[in-house]
Amino acid sequence: MIKIMLSDSITQVKGVGEKFAEDLATLNVHTIEDLLAYFPYRYDVFEIKPLGELIHEDKVTIEGKVVYDPSLTFYGKNKSRLSFTVEVENVAIKAVMFNRAFAKKQIKSGDTITLTGKWDAHRLQITVSIYKLGSADNQATIQPMYSVKGDISTAKLKKMIQNAIKNYAHEIIELLPTSYLEAYKLPGRQEAIKTMHFPANRVSLKHARRRFTYEEFLLFQLKMQLLRKMKREATQGNTQHYNPDKIKDFMNLLPFDLTNAQQKSLNQILSDMNSPYRMNRLLQGDVGSGKTAVAAICLYATITAGKQGALMVPTEILAEQHYQSLTDLFGEKANIVLLTGSVKGKKRKELDASIENHDVNIVVGTHALIQDDVLFDDLGFVIVDEQHRFGVKQRRRLRDKGLNPDVLFMTATPIPRTLAITAFGDMDVSVIDEMPKGRKEIETYWTKENTFERVLRFIKKQISFGEQAYVICPLIEESDKLDIQDAVDLYNQLQEFYADEIEIGLMHGRLPTEEKENVMKQFAANDIQVLVSTTVVEVGVDVPNATIMVIYDAERFGLSQLHQLRGRVGRGDKQSYCILIADPKGEVGKERMRIMTETANGFELSEQDLKLRGPGDFFGKKQSGIPEFKVADMIHDYRALETARNDAQEIIEKNMLEEKEEFYQLQQYFENNSFFTDKLD
Ligand code: ADP
Ligand code: MG
Repeated sequence: MIKIMLSDSITQVKGVGEKFAEDLATLNVHTIEDLLAYFPYRYDVFEIKPLGELIHEDKVTIEGKVVYDPSLTFYGKNKSRLSFTVEVENVAIKAVMFNRAFAKKQIKSGDTITLTGKWDAHRLQITVSIYKLGSADNQATIQPMYSVKGDISTAKLKKMIQNAIKNYAHEIIELLPTSYLEAYKLPGRQEAIKTMHFPANRVSLKHARRRFTYEEFLLFQLKMQLLRKMKREATQGNTQHYNPDKIKDFMNLLPFDLTNAQQKSLNQILSDMNSPYRMNRLLQGDVGSGKTAVAAICLYATITAGKQGALMVPTEILAEQHYQSLTDLFGEKANIVLLTGSVKGKKRKELDASIENHDVNIVVGTHALIQDDVLFDDLGFVIVDEQHRFGVKQRRRLRDKGLNPDVLFMTATPIPRTLAITAFGDMDVSVIDEMPKGRKEIETYWTKENTFERVLRFIKKQISFGEQAYVICPLIEESDKLDIQDAVDLYNQLQEFYADEIEIGLMHGRLPTEEKENVMKQFAANDIQVLVSTTVVEVGVDVPNATIMVIYDAERFGLSQLHQLRGRVGRGDKQSYCILIADPKGEVGKERMRIMTETANGFELSEQDLKLRGPGDFFGKKQSGIPEFKVADMIHDYRALETARNDAQEIIEKNMLEEKEEFYQLQQYFENNSFFTDKLD
């Protein structure tokens, strides 16, 4: 006899014909294994409650004793109605069941029966959808719900799964090592699969789900760790022999001491630079947490190792600012240049030449950095700021300008830890989760539009103390003329309100670069007190004297964007304010405003955002790198995710897949799956 394998077609399962197999294929179920793993998408659990607690028209479960044999009536064409009376808590309840004539033979006077169905409190009647002879297990009945479509009925699907389990469950291979099952008290794979489809009670279902949650997370995390290891081994890397004493001297010249979080991140980065592997690290930290300061020290380290560094940022304004602050920090210690699209002609040629002959140590720039004519002599260290603004190709092109340079990605969008270890699982992550000392928390208020004049008076008062304000209005697309019109209108309104007392500037993406720069310079010099702007100021702009951030139509922004905007103020030592003008219609929108007023910490806020939006939406429409888990839920099961992450790290670090007997099946699993071909860029 030919041995049937789980990887064989579902037509091997008793009762599955060609037609049904075709239908199942539309659910992506092709093999016996697929069918066994086609888990219910949810379970309806009906708990037996006292009659007094049942709610009219709810789906409820009751348990009682059948008082008379059921009576069956037929009507219409092939339609039937079975009715009987059950006694529950000494009350006679009427039960009706449609089109299940066969049940008449099963239900007998005197039997105990559990009924689930729609409750009619006025008539003391239940319209039964599920019945079960005997008492309910553990006071609850569990109804698995499958997602089905087309001609597939849940009943048939269940029957086929039952057949598959009966005949092939013994073929199911355990993937997890026994010691893990024991340590985490997880059921074996066979048993857990059975339970997922036919849960005997809630406790066993919980454990089966726990098992698959862990399994899914572990497989994914192992994949990421393997990928990380392969990436490391596939590249030569470059060991940067920097000069620790010089770095120390450099740090001593900084006007501040690093926070603990900065120091820790710095150590991680320096140790990567010094290792034979190519660094692939993400540095996360709230706006103003001091990422750029850390980056500067690392750039200096590269210089002491005799190499060049590059910092790529998404906008010209930001490039300009980074250039300024780095030049201030480095003084004579480095030759830093700014490379943007505005540098053209002869000047550009000279710049290119000085980069190529290593006259230049550090290049700060926009996308202009990755153009073909930009060649480095010895690029050792690459930093990509606001990494999510660049595509994979752009990041790779910058990296390819050196010989396996170390790469540091920076982001000021705090990413919840669970998402970070999932979406960036193949990277190393450093986190600056602490603000420099002495920063005052920004006071955040939420108000409706009709208080706009009050807000303007408040701005005026603060300006009389020498402070400055941003007024932001939404811009969804930079090309959207209407939105620019909003900014212009707002600008005109403010002009009118403040007459000649206050200088107001206008900034939006459509302005020519020179004009943008000019406006920014005027704002930085306090020649302009109020800057009306679209979100072009979102990223990185640093004017410490600005203490007020007013965000118009704030409900049109996401939480993390609001937080980014808020981060434009609170940069100096004065008390800063963020005023959200919003009239959100939905509950989620209102919740967002509330969270903004209550939460200052970006990481905390991102966790809340994740809860509001769900993992799929967190990164917006862009490809997020977040897999779809069947059973596991990243938010709800974050502890299991962390456990799986740690286990995966240990397994790969200690080479356990190859070296330990009980990991054989896992090793085979990865051996047989070609996950990685497309991932090794
Ligand atoms: P980020 O890049 O994370 O937004 P920056 O590195 O630009 O933050 O730092 C924000 C401001 O705080 C800068 O003016 C910087 O000089 C200052 N700063 C950075 N680190 C510290 C620190 N440890 N103590 C005090 N001030 C700091
Ligand atoms: Mg920065």
